[in-house]
Amino acid sequence: RQEVYRELRKKPSTTRDGVQVDLLMNAGLAVDLPQLAEAGAAGIGLFRTELQFMVASTFPRAEAQEKLYRDVLEAARGKPVTFRTIDIGGDKVLPYFKGAIQEENPALGWRAIRLTLDRPGLLRTQIRALLKASGGRELKLMLPMVTELGEIAQAREIIDREVRHLSRFAHHLPTSLKLGAMLEVPSLLFQLDELMKAVDFVSVGSNDLFQFVMAVDRGNTQLANRFDTLSAPFLRVLKQIADAGIRNHTPVTLCGELAGKPISAMALIGLGFRSISMSPASIGPVKAMLTELPLDELTAFFDDNLMAPAQGLPMRALLQAFADDR
Ligand code: PEP
Ligand code: MG
Repeated sequence: RQEVYRELRKKPSTTRDGVQVDLLMNAGLAVDLPQLAEAGAAGIGLFRTELQFMVASTFPRAEAQEKLYRDVLEAARGKPVTFRTIDIGGDKVLPYFKGAIQEENPALGWRAIRLTLDRPGLLRTQIRALLKASGGRELKLMLPMVTELGEIAQAREIIDREVRHLSRFAHHLPTSLKLGAMLEVPSLLFQLDELMKAVDFVSVGSNDLFQFVMAVDRGNTQLANRFDTLSAPFLRVLKQIADAGIRNHTPVTLCGELAGKPISAMALIGLGFRSISMSPASIGPVKAMLTELPLDELTAFFDDNLMAPAQGLPMRALLQAFADDR
């Protein structure tokens, strides 16, 4: 198998009928970087910057942040990298963060963009480090756990201020800056067109989005097999997101665990996703599926089944049968 995947690396990342789909990888630490070439990823679709904070015993200094981001961009050799601003709080606690509070529902609590907008010093330091590290290159930034569009506007103000500050001191700035939002909170589903217009790209965090759509704790093993990520309601949600991206010419990607299993990656591509980001070990198996996939047939399958699954069968079973038949 490993041999097969290595061979596949040289092949174009397209379906059997020639539609290109970018397969990116998720990463978070310097040790992940060699995987970029080994797995043959098209870039880093999600760089989880909080990991540097989680393995440290105090807040990483601005210089250490900048060094990591520069190392990542060097290792990427021009391939796109999307940095997510720190997604801490909730269950990702930093023992040294004195401001942390006890919460009854940490997943719904003071975390991610909510926390960093309340502690803008943290965000400012990180953004400055990212801007400096990206001098002369493109910078792609995305915000975790966005709930309202106002949060994007607030973050943008902070970013703009840092850009002005650095240009005043004649720093080498990024050649372009793209700002994206993660779609993890259902409130955004009811303002998809506004969301698509408010950002340069959207990335679906399907781990959290599934948790919030189904009201099921993503870490609760008791419930792990009860609800299906390939159930019709969740697939319809994903289709609406993909459609809104196409309608508004806003690139949409997905970077949750869903992207890493061949059967669910197949479903995502059938629903309209043309870029997905996964753990590096998944790229080989997903690419093996991709190059065999007759997308025209899968599109017709969804046209027939998404709103009215054949014989009332679960979508997962229908998708599995589609895959087995081909
Ligand atoms: C997600 O929620 O799907 C996601 C990619 O972010 P994380 O798993 O880091 O919460
Ligand atoms: Mg998430």
